[in-house]
Amino acid sequence: MARIPGRTPEPPSPDPTADQATKDAMSSPSTASPAHSASTASTVITNIAALVTNDPSLGDRSPLGLIQDAAVVIEGDRVAWTGESSKAPATDNRVDAEGRAVIPGFVDSHSHLVFAGDRTQEFNARMSGRSYTAGGIRTTVAATRAATDAQLEANLTHYLTEALRQGTTTFETKSGYGLTVADEARALRIAARHTDEVTYLGAHIVPPDHADDPAAYVALVTGEMLDACAPYARWIDVFCEQGAFDGDQARAILTAGKAKGLHPRVHANQLSYGPGVQLAVELDAASADHCTHLTDDDIEALANSSTVATLLPGAEFSTRAEWPDARRLLDAGVTVALSTDCNPGSSFTSSVPFCIALAVRDMRMTPDEAVWSATAGGAAALRRTDIGRLTPGAYADLALLDAPSHVHLAYRPGVPLVSQVWRRGVPVT
Ligand SMILES: [Zn+2]
Repeated sequence: MARIPGRTPEPPSPDPTADQATKDAMSSPSTASPAHSASTASTVITNIAALVTNDPSLGDRSPLGLIQDAAVVIEGDRVAWTGESSKAPATDNRVDAEGRAVIPGFVDSHSHLVFAGDRTQEFNARMSGRSYTAGGIRTTVAATRAATDAQLEANLTHYLTEALRQGTTTFETKSGYGLTVADEARALRIAARHTDEVTYLGAHIVPPDHADDPAAYVALVTGEMLDACAPYARWIDVFCEQGAFDGDQARAILTAGKAKGLHPRVHANQLSYGPGVQLAVELDAASADHCTHLTDDDIEALANSSTVATLLPGAEFSTRAEWPDARRLLDAGVTVALSTDCNPGSSFTSSVPFCIALAVRDMRMTPDEAVWSATAGGAAALRRTDIGRLTPGAYADLALLDAPSHVHLAYRPGVPLVSQVWRRGVPVT
């Protein structure tokens, strides 16, 4: 077993171009600096106490493909080799992990980060047992509409940087706080400057200006708004819930999106039983998100589909709601992802490690399952195979932990264990 130094060690020296790399890390790969993307220098990170590869053919042959006393070789922006330190091939550069654990960078496949304003009072009232009659999502919609593009982008960048420092190297984010043609399109335009995983969520709620005529709003979401938003998005999402959009409305919205080349994902079965999960499976959605209130039929449908169940325990934590039963899903063979749902109302955390700790403590996931779900599971929820694993050909996106094992992410809740993050083959924190 490799050692962990008694003192808190300095993180491995970052590349002198790390400041630029941090900036690049906020951009989509297509806008990354040519100096990095063209680099073919090889680097070995060695003396890794435990390496999570998420390749079950490696190491201990578990789903995590855990290798003890390991090394990772990076060439350019990709992983070139993983295995035992003693067998690592020669490279141009060498980084000593000093007995840290290394995991794939987190894939946060569900967030709502294009917003303005704050809902501290609402949270404080909820946690203090006081009634509070502000507008919920509507409060954020009003603040977001009133914000400038620069304010929205600065806010987004702030939370992306926060997430990156905590190990998140890929994130999905959504519109849904504009709810007009122009405001939804600008939210997606801003998001698309920072990630390839952009989701059109015009169907978040029926906005107050359409409260008397929800059908007209669905027509807008599936018509003019979709036309304006589709060029910036990869995904289409709908909040299928009592008080938001029913099954028929959700089907119409997702089907219209598919016809425009967007792929579905669904906010499903969060607050109550309902048709969301079955609809997600019917339309081959990449993910059904929340999955808190599920029937046996819902679970069977997920188990027999390629739709991932994305669990978002930050939402249950922040609203003192019932936890989703991850154990029941896993035992049925459902693929489970774990994400933050970061948003200013119901889950204002950007910390995947926090969600891992909750999932283990309160949702009956094992530490191994939770780490898998926050990395490979998130990648599956985005239908990606080039992230969420540390195997040859995958992007060299990884996090070093000030701990000898990934288990410490749940064992030491609330402790900032991520000591360094690499994205696309370069250190960015
Ligand atoms: Zn959400």
